[in-house]
Amino acid sequence: MFELKTPEETRQGLVARINSYQPLIEDIAVSLYRNPELGLSEVFASQKLKSILEAEGFSVEAGIASMPTAFRAAWGSGRPAIAFLAEYDALPGVGHGCGHNLMAACSTAAALACRHAIPAELPVRWLLIGTPAEETVGGKLAMVDAGVFADVSAAFIAHPERQNGLGGSSWASHPLELTFHGRTSHAGASPQDGINALDALVAAYTQIRNLKNSLRDDVRLAGIITHGGDVPNIVPERAQARFTVRAKDWRYLETIVLPKVKQVAEGAALAGSATVELRHHEPLFKETLEHPVLREIARRNFEYLGETIPPPPEGAGGGVTDVGGVTWVTPCIQIRFAMTSARPHSRELADDTITPRGIQATLMAAKVLALSALDLAYNPAALAAAHDHLTQILNQQQ
Ligand SMILES: [Zn+2]
Repeated sequence: MFELKTPEETRQGLVARINSYQPLIEDIAVSLYRNPELGLSEVFASQKLKSILEAEGFSVEAGIASMPTAFRAAWGSGRPAIAFLAEYDALPGVGHGCGHNLMAACSTAAALACRHAIPAELPVRWLLIGTPAEETVGGKLAMVDAGVFADVSAAFIAHPERQNGLGGSSWASHPLELTFHGRTSHAGASPQDGINALDALVAAYTQIRNLKNSLRDDVRLAGIITHGGDVPNIVPERAQARFTVRAKDWRYLETIVLPKVKQVAEGAALAGSATVELRHHEPLFKETLEHPVLREIARRNFEYLGETIPPPPEGAGGGVTDVGGVTWVTPCIQIRFAMTSARPHSRELADDTITPRGIQATLMAAKVLALSALDLAYNPAALAAAHDHLTQILNQQQ
């Protein structure tokens, strides 16, 4: 496909530098593990990363995209501008059960190593972008909308998993809230004078679930009723449900699936003389777009480090990440690194992030990210090819 042009002594220097960051990686991993913070409240985590980066000469812009815990740290002023993305939000109840403490450590180490390993003649700008609330509102989506990635030439991120991997399988998602409105009345004495919002919602729920028979197999329509009335002797005037609406690609989701779901909800409301309000309570998460150039570079760097990449497990998919949104605006890859045998979003996985295996795996992943970033910096033709690929896809979509 193309040659990797980074000089061998620069590669070795980078690997050695990341090895020297083991205490730093451990410090970030353990301190975030001990102070897990939910999305948009990651004050400790973002502050910690910002001060580490500032101490190494990065200039930090904080509170970007209207999120106090989002930030962008930059070193150098040239082009290309290559970014490492850090997540640091935890989960309720299970702390860092998704291992975002390791993602923070990994990207920070990679950014620092690149800043030091880069020879003066390469005018690269290194960025560490702190992206809050992956698990909740998808902070990267607001950052994409705010133009945070507009001048980013390429972006790298690494997620802890059970197996090494080259990214890919994340789906599109656009969660929908349905609120049915009716009219109260005495449920015993005069039910005929009321309009039962719950009945309309239950009809809609059943019909939405049945839609799967007329949609592609990859569509996921899972819902819960979040409000079903107040007391049984009053006809419910308000009933509410939330649905996760997912498919492999966002075009199908937006043009086929969501119109059908909305049509069914409106039909059920009409049939019950109720009305329905439809609202997306979370933004559209686009699926992760694959960038073959970045995949190939990352694959070769896994191999350079003696790592194997097993094929993704059978039936993988259905997960969603806001990294997907970034992959539609700049070449971006989320690699996966093996550090656990625990299930995702578990207390066991959180505990594994601070074991020697967890730390070593994070060091390895930081090397893959940093080496891959350097390969792009040394090979403008590869970076141009990555951008051509994205432009082609965007043109096809129009
Ligand atoms: Zn995660």
